[in-house]
Amino acid sequence: ATAVSVGAPTRDIGPLAVLDDAGLEVPVLGGRRVRHVNLDVAASAPALSAVSAHVASVLPYYSSVHRGTGYPSQASTALVDDARAVVARHVGARLDDVVVFTRNTTEALNLLAGVVPGETVVLDLEHHANLLPWERRGRRVVVASPTIAATLGALAAELRRRPAALVSVTGASNVTGEVLPVAAIAALAHEHGARLAVDAAQLLPHRRVDIAASGIDYLAFSGHKAYAPYGAGALVGRADWLDDGPAHLQGGGAVESVRVDGATWKTGAERHEAGTPNVLGIAALARALVELERLGERARRDHEDALTSQLHSGLARIAGVRVIRGFDDADDRLGIATIELERGSVGLVAAALAAEHGVSVRAGRFCAHPFFDRVASRANGLRASLGAGSSADDVERFVDALKRLVANGP
Ligand code: PLP
Repeated sequence: ATAVSVGAPTRDIGPLAVLDDAGLEVPVLGGRRVRHVNLDVAASAPALSAVSAHVASVLPYYSSVHRGTGYPSQASTALVDDARAVVARHVGARLDDVVVFTRNTTEALNLLAGVVPGETVVLDLEHHANLLPWERRGRRVVVASPTIAATLGALAAELRRRPAALVSVTGASNVTGEVLPVAAIAALAHEHGARLAVDAAQLLPHRRVDIAASGIDYLAFSGHKAYAPYGAGALVGRADWLDDGPAHLQGGGAVESVRVDGATWKTGAERHEAGTPNVLGIAALARALVELERLGERARRDHEDALTSQLHSGLARIAGVRVIRGFDDADDRLGIATIELERGSVGLVAAALAAEHGVSVRAGRFCAHPFFDRVASRANGLRASLGAGSSADDVERFVDALKRLVANGP
């Protein structure tokens, strides 16, 4: 793989994956159009071209699934069934795990929160999607320490203090990109009689996740962050809580039989998937996972790691910019950097990056208010995030534009 030495960015890391938005031009002030630089990949990654082509090819066979007798209905049913098998294989599911299709990570975690038979322990660094749903059955928040090692100690102490049914942590922070040691957290949770759920919204598109090997009990993720279009995500995990808990959605498809005075609910994925499924979104999600496997984790990681080094070394050279960190001892991080500025407004800088330079980033607190308020010294940050379709030129354009805006004001 091509490597970029720290401090000497090169232009030779082409995008590893071809995205649907490759070569997209956007208008900037002055009436010019420039090549769009998308450094907001952690919010939603543009679809891979292979995924768009697949969606276009299955679109003519679009039909409602299950009991349709025609060819399109059978083709659509097969797409959903195959997608379930692809998801299970991709995340290393155990044979008896259930793959429930949802709209996204948020819905997957809400679904799990509806069936968890007790309290859930989370870290304060979580995205709101992994903080808010647990309140229903009791949520305990552990404030993370400046090191991962001490944070695991605090988690263990909380579980010793009072048992919990579930520990739910993110696989990687959407603010810092720092990757958490999920296998170690799974072992810790199990030692204290709890299960582990991992919010893999950020992790799964960039690192191989093997839930059986890591001891993860439940995994939630979104297709739109993994180079598929919007609208489909999944919850994968142990069948018992999912079969014993109430159906997430109530309606057709989730029941064995219905009487005027009640219903007999199915078990397995169908229990939670009432209504017509998002066949195209599910097919796209599965195709994206196949494509990620084809590109290979090693190659994607080398590509993104080199760009991440380039990004951080570029930011380190800009006076008045501070990169936000959660941990001192994180040994792996995704291509995400959130900065705060000594002077000036990140909102204005982010707007100027788009309006003057055609560079997309994100400003705010990234749906992680408790974490942001603890680690940041300003009200808002600016996040740049990259992926398999990013290039050295993207990073260079962002860093150069940011440097000028910070020096001269937006
Ligand atoms: N968890 C993390 C770590 C995220 O970064 C996000 C999205 O930004 C989510 C959960 C929610 O994902 P979605 O909006 O696809 O449900």
